[in-house]
Amino acid sequence: MPLYNDEAITLRHYDFGEADRIVSFFGRRHGKVRVVAKGARKLKSRFAGRLEPFHKVAIVYFGRENANLYKLSNVDFRRTRAAMSDELERFHRACYVTELMEAALREGDPNPKAFLAANATLELIARETRTAELDWITRFFDVRFLSHIGYTPTLDRCVACRGGLPETGQLAFDAAKGGIVCPACRPKFKSAVALSAGAAKFMAKMLTTEFGKAVRLKPSPQILREITSAIIAFRNSRIQVKMNSERFFGSDV
Ligand SMILES: [Zn+2]
Repeated sequence: MPLYNDEAITLRHYDFGEADRIVSFFGRRHGKVRVVAKGARKLKSRFAGRLEPFHKVAIVYFGRENANLYKLSNVDFRRTRAAMSDELERFHRACYVTELMEAALREGDPNPKAFLAANATLELIARETRTAELDWITRFFDVRFLSHIGYTPTLDRCVACRGGLPETGQLAFDAAKGGIVCPACRPKFKSAVALSAGAAKFMAKMLTTEFGKAVRLKPSPQILREITSAIIAFRNSRIQVKMNSERFFGSDV
């Protein structure tokens, strides 16, 4: 039976049978996988304490190719993020990030860019305690992650008429259509949310800025509110899952 090695982020686990656990990992090379960790709930298990979410780990697992459940052979820490659970605001954002990955990623579909975005985001969250910064990091992750899984919003022209956008003033974002609508097209899109030209430009910048520089790009509270409404509407239109973790932190939508 093939043996797989990967570097992975632990997403979640749940109990299975008498003493086992099923764990879901997002691997850099092989994408999301589900594995059964035999005996993981026994006191002396070799997996004990190593299957909690948010950590970066090295995993070895085996099973038939394209199986929907593999067997975990080994797990070692690469980067522990135990402090994530010490602080509630931070913990809820980390839960949100892993919950979104769990909901949106298909099993066995490698996506190294999404992996790097997720890992960089968890790293930033692990070092942060300020609410506004945590909100900003989470929204930055949303835009990048959605784009890496194939949902990139149209921000540089009107998504309806394809015309250019005014440099200033009020525009709108239509989640179902997937981008900005110009003032002329706006009346045709009743569900579009308001988005200023400044917030639209800022969102476009989020698509191209490296994670290392995200903290410096920090938006004003007004722009963060506007892009939050647009991003969450866009996410909900593409991923039909109720995000449980979201009710624990302040969002303006
Ligand atoms: Zn238009």
